[in-house]
Amino acid sequence: MYVIGTAGHVDHGKSTLVKALTGIDPDRLREEKERGMTIDLGFAWLRLPDGREVSLVDVPGHERFIKNMLAGVGGIDLALLVVAADEGVMPQTREHVAILELLGIHRAVVALSKIDLVEPDWLDLVRSDVQEYLARTALAGAPIVPVSALTGAGLDQLIQTLVATLAETPPRPDLGRPRLPIDRVFTVAGFGTVVTGTLTGGRLHVGQELEVQPGGLRTRSRGIQTHRQKVEVALPGTRVAVNLAGLATEHLWRGHVVTVPGWLQPTTVVDAHVRVLAEAGPLVHNSVLSFHSGTAETMARVIVLEGERIEPGASGWIQLRLAAPLALARGDLFVLRTPNATVGGGEVVDAHARRHRRSEPGLLARLEILRRGAPTDRLRHLLEQGPQEPGLLGLQTGLEAETVQRALASLQAQGEIVTLGDLLTARRWWEQCRERVLGTLRAYHQRHPLRAGMPREELKSRLGFPPRLFGAVVQRLVAEGTLAETGPHLRLAEHTVRFGPDLAERVERLLGELGREPYAPPSLPDLMATLGLDEEVIAALVEQGRLVRLNESVALRSEVYREMVERVVALLREKGQVTVAEVRDLFGTSRKYVLALLEYMDQQHLTRRVGDVRVLRERVGV
Ligand code: GDP
Ligand code: MG
Repeated sequence: MYVIGTAGHVDHGKSTLVKALTGIDPDRLREEKERGMTIDLGFAWLRLPDGREVSLVDVPGHERFIKNMLAGVGGIDLALLVVAADEGVMPQTREHVAILELLGIHRAVVALSKIDLVEPDWLDLVRSDVQEYLARTALAGAPIVPVSALTGAGLDQLIQTLVATLAETPPRPDLGRPRLPIDRVFTVAGFGTVVTGTLTGGRLHVGQELEVQPGGLRTRSRGIQTHRQKVEVALPGTRVAVNLAGLATEHLWRGHVVTVPGWLQPTTVVDAHVRVLAEAGPLVHNSVLSFHSGTAETMARVIVLEGERIEPGASGWIQLRLAAPLALARGDLFVLRTPNATVGGGEVVDAHARRHRRSEPGLLARLEILRRGAPTDRLRHLLEQGPQEPGLLGLQTGLEAETVQRALASLQAQGEIVTLGDLLTARRWWEQCRERVLGTLRAYHQRHPLRAGMPREELKSRLGFPPRLFGAVVQRLVAEGTLAETGPHLRLAEHTVRFGPDLAERVERLLGELGREPYAPPSLPDLMATLGLDEEVIAALVEQGRLVRLNESVALRSEVYREMVERVVALLREKGQVTVAEVRDLFGTSRKYVLALLEYMDQQHLTRRVGDVRVLRERVGV
C-alpha cells in the first residue's frame, strides 16, 4: 500500500490532475470551490492497472497554506511534483521540493502539466530546465512526464510511470507500532467521532485499544475505512479513517496521534540534527520558529548547541524547546519555518532530552553517537541516560530488534548492564544513582543522628524517581546490603542511633525515674522538661525498644510494659474478660495508668473493648 502526495506551485494544476487521474475532486471545501484554489488537504485514491490501490493526498501550493502542505506530506511514499509547462519552476516548486528533501521523501514523478498551453519547443526547454534544477536536489533523476489534464494527453504515460516507480518503492515497514497522525476530525451521524490520517509504523484493527497523544486519552477503534471501504485491518502506508469510541471531537485535532497505548510520550524538549537550506538565512541561536512534524505544528525556540548560528547549507546540532507538547519519537523528521519561508529541517535524535547548557562537555559527541554510532555505543549511551523499558530500546536507538538483542548481550557480557526490576540501565548510571541515594541518606543521618532513618516517601520525592523505579532501586540496595528498611524508614545499613556521653547520662536518669514506681511512672512531659530531653530522644528510645509510649504523658520501660501485658493476657486467658478495676488491682496502680495500658493494648490489636470489659483478640503474641 502506498500514498502519493502532490507537490508544486499554486495553480500549476495539481488538483485538476488528481481529479483527472482518480475522478475525485480533492478540493472538498466550499471556499476552495469558490476560489478555485486548494486551501487544505484533499484526498483521493486510484486503482492502478496492476490492480493495486494507491491513495493520493493533494496539498495546497499557495505559500499562505504551506502549513497545511506540511501536515499532508508526512506519511507519503512518493511525490507527484507538478510543474506547469507554461511557468516552469516557481518559488513554491522550490519550497515544496526542499520540504520533500528535508522529510526524506526522495522518490518523485514529475508531471509537466498544461502542455496544451505551450509549443513543443518551449516544452523541451522547460523540460530540460526542470531536469537541471532537480539534478541539484534529492529528487535528481526523477522521471518527467508531460501531461495535460485538459486534453488527457500523457495521463496513461503518467500512470505507467507511477506504477513503475512504486514497483521500486519499498513498502512501509510494519514495526508493530501504528501511528496515525490525525489530519481531520469530524462526526458521522450514527457513528460519532471519526479521525483520518496516513497510517505508518504498524496495523490498526477494529476493536483495538488505542491511545491519543498528547493527552493520553484512551479509546477503541469501532470501525475502520480506507478509501471509503470498511476494513477489519488497515495496513501501514494507507489512508485511514477510524471511528473512535467515547471521544468527543473537541478533544481531538490535527497534530494528535492515535497509537497503541504505552509507548509514545509527549515531549517539549528534543535534541535534533538539522540542515539549513542553502537558500535560507542562517539558523540563529534563540530564534523562535514554527516546528512541523507529522501533522503537528507548534512554535519552537531553537538552541544552537555549537556556536551562535548554523550557516545556510550547513548542518548542526540543536535543541528545540517546544511551546506545546507533541507526540514525537526518535527518528521523526521535521521542518522549521519562519512565517514566510522554510529555514531547514532534520531528525529528532533524542525525543525526551534534558535541557542542556550549551557548554555541556561531551554533549555533541554523545548526540553524534545517538545518531550514527555503533549499536553497542548507542545502546550504552541511551542506558546511561537512565533506566529504560527493554521493549522500547529499539525505538529509542533506532535499531532493529535483533541488533538490540545482540548489542545488549555484548554489553551484558562486559558487565555494563544493570537490571532494576523490569527496567535496564547502564552501570555508570547505576553507580551515580547509588552514590546519590547513599549520599542523601548519609546527609540525613548526619542531620538527624537520633532518627532511625529517612521516611521512604521523603527519599522518593527527594530523588524524584517514579514509584516503580524507586522501588527497584531500594530493593537492589537492600539486596546488596547497603540499605536497610525499618518500617516506613530507610537507612544506611551501618547507621545506628548513638547518644553522646551527656545525653546518655540523662537518658539513664529518665529510665531510672520511670523504673522507680514502674506501674505508676511520673509524667513523661515533666521528666522531659526536668532532664532537658526532647521528642526526638524519646522517639529514638522507642525505636530502640527501650521505651513504650502509651500516650502523650505515660511511658513505660519496655520490660515493664512486657510484664504488664503478659499478666493482663494471663488474667484474660483465665477469666475470658477483665474490667479496668480488676487490672488496677492486679498492679495496685491507679485507673489513669490502667486506661492508658488497655487502650494501648487495644491499638496493638491485643485486646478489644466490649462494653465495660476487655476480651482477647484471637491471635495473641506479645
Ligand atoms: P493547483 O493549485 O496546482 O491545484 O492548480 P489547479 O488544479 O487548481 O489548476 C489551476 C488552474 O489551471 C485551473 O484553472 C485549471 O483549470 C487549470 N488547469 C489545470 N490543468 C490544466 C491543463 O492541463 N491545461 C489547462 N489549459 N489548464 C489547466
Ligand atoms: Mg490545488
